[in-house]
Parts: sequence; C-alpha cells; structure tokens
Amino acid sequence: MSNVTVCVRFRPLSSRERKIHEDSVCVQGLDAESFVFKDDEEEDITFCFDRVFYQDSEQADIYEFLALPIVADVINGMNGTIITYGQTGAGKTYSMEGPSILECDEHKNGLVQRVVDGLFEHMKSSTDTVTCTMKLSMVEIYMEKVRDLLDLSKDNLQIKEGRNQGIYIAGVSEITVANTSEALCCLARGIANRAVGETQMNLASSRSHCLYVFLVQQESAIDKRLKIGKIILVDLAGSEKADKTGACGRALEEAKTINKSLSALGNVINALTTGKTGHIPYRDSKLTRILQDTLGGNSRTVLLCCCSPSPSDASESLSTLRFGTRTKLI
Ligand code: ADP
Ligand code: MG
Repeated sequence: MSNVTVCVRFRPLSSRERKIHEDSVCVQGLDAESFVFKDDEEEDITFCFDRVFYQDSEQADIYEFLALPIVADVINGMNGTIITYGQTGAGKTYSMEGPSILECDEHKNGLVQRVVDGLFEHMKSSTDTVTCTMKLSMVEIYMEKVRDLLDLSKDNLQIKEGRNQGIYIAGVSEITVANTSEALCCLARGIANRAVGETQMNLASSRSHCLYVFLVQQESAIDKRLKIGKIILVDLAGSEKADKTGACGRALEEAKTINKSLSALGNVINALTTGKTGHIPYRDSKLTRILQDTLGGNSRTVLLCCCSPSPSDASESLSTLRFGTRTKLI
C-alpha cells in the first residue's frame, strides 16, 4: 500500500465565467472517485482518482479527507505533506488559506487554519507528563532559492541533513507558538512579507512555491524522550505553460525553473507509488529536497490537483489531471 493519495478539486465557476459560458462546465461527476472530462475538442475522457471534490465541496470535507489522518500521524511522531497543484486561479491558495488566513470563518477556513487547530486540539489533550511544543516556519522557493518569509534578510537558505533531525533548512526562523491565533498571526506576517518582497522585486506570487512547516515536539518528563512530527503544506507555483510566443527573459526562466521543479516532484512521487526500490531523485530540486522526509517512508503524501471547471480552461485543467494520473496510477 502506498502512502500517496491523489485527489482533485474543481472550484466553482466565477461569476464572470458564468456569464461567458452560461453555466456550462467541462466536468461531469460520476461518483466520489471518477468523472467525465470534456476536453478542447469536445471529447470525453474518464478520470479516476482517490477522491474527487466537486464545485460544491466544503473546506471541512477537504480537511477531513486530506489532512485529518496526517494530523494524527504528526502527533504520533510521523511526518506528512499536503501539496496543492494547478494553474493560477484554480483554487490552490483558497484550499490552503481560505479567503484570508486571519478571517476566522468556520466554513471558509482553509487547510492551514484547520491543521493548526487540529494539532493544538491533540496537544491540549496530551498527558501531564508530556510537554508539547509547536514550532512553525514559512518559506518561499523562487528560482531555486529558499527565502525565509518570517525574516526577509535570509534570502538564500541552504537545505541540510542532520543525523538526528533529518532534513532541515539551515538557519530558518522557527517560531514557537502557543495557540492557534498566535500561529495564524505569525503566518499572516509571512504572507504580508511575501507580498512586500514581490512588490520590491516585481514578482508574482504565482511564480513561487510557498511552504508552511509545522513541527510538533513532545518531550516526556519521565524518560526525556523526544517525539517529533512534521507536516508541510505546499502551495505550489502555477503549473500553467509559459505563453509560447510572449515569454522571454525572466518570465521564460521562471517558467523553465517551475517546470523543472514540478516534474521533479512528479518523478519523486511516481517513484514512491510504483514502489520501485532504489534511487528516488529527491536532489533534483529544492522543493523535493525540502520535502524529502515528509514524502515516502511512513510519511503520508497528499496531492490535491486543483482545477477550474470552465470550458475556457479545459486545456490547463487537462494537463493538471494528466499530472495527477502520471503521478499515481490508481
Ligand atoms: P490559485 O491560488 O490556484 O491561483 P486561488 O485560490 O487564488 O487560485 O483562487 C482563484 C479565485 O477563485 C479566488 O478568487 C478564490 O477566492 C476563488 N476560489 C477558488 N476556490 C474556491 C472555492 N472552492 N470556493 C469559492 N471560491 C473559490
Ligand atoms: Mg495562489
């Protein structure tokens, strides 16, 4: 049994798309695992995944299926990762953060708020003889450079491997937080920093990967044993193809770099699901290197392929679905 789960989420049509296409969509649900997709040539293709979330899906359903098992794992000292993939505008950030990280709304909160909440719930109910600590970090990977979103002066962090701590980002800010609101305030600062950096450098957030890292450490008062679990949530750069005619200079370089890291990710996950032993190409990108010990082994990995249901996005949605199926043949 592989620990990799591949899911698809179709966001609702926007009001603009509704006007253009009169409510027509390129997806027709069959059941909770499969649907028929209409491509650009009006051809029907049937897809099957571990789970499909349609336009009317709730944020809470996404959390329950994707994240709840990993939250339990982290409390037990294991690792996991949840990755959102898809073209810009497909709903990756909405799935992660909801409309806003600080807007507390039981319906709209994304995976990040719910994971933090879930971890603290577990930590509160642990026994008196265990001291629980939560630490968080937030980094961005742009053009294969790792930038600390909680301290912008650290803009080229290196990834290292320690004998005891596994893979870590050397020198990254690790903030200890005592409750959900402290954690979310801290992450909101990271999100604001990301926007500042983008304005200064004239970048678009859709061109970088954003990683939320949560470490839960539990120390037993009796034998001083440490149990550490880690979950990384990844909001990937947009997977859209570079405009074949227009892209040049930096835009083209960005597109090539993103493409390389996304295919490295696909290759690593594929190597894990096919169960081939031997070489797993973690070192092919910063992204896969950082994720190394949250992918594979007994870590649970969830890939959420985010798609637009609009016929005008059919070719990008199709390429997202193909990425999902290539990653794991179910
Ligand atoms: P991405 O991060 O993939 O570029 P976003 O998450 O920013 O895309 O989503 C694009 C737009 O669609 C945003 O305005 C967002 O609020 C909206 N949206 C995405 N997913 C949903 C959803 N499940 N329900 C309601 N609105 C959504
Ligand atoms: Mg986004």
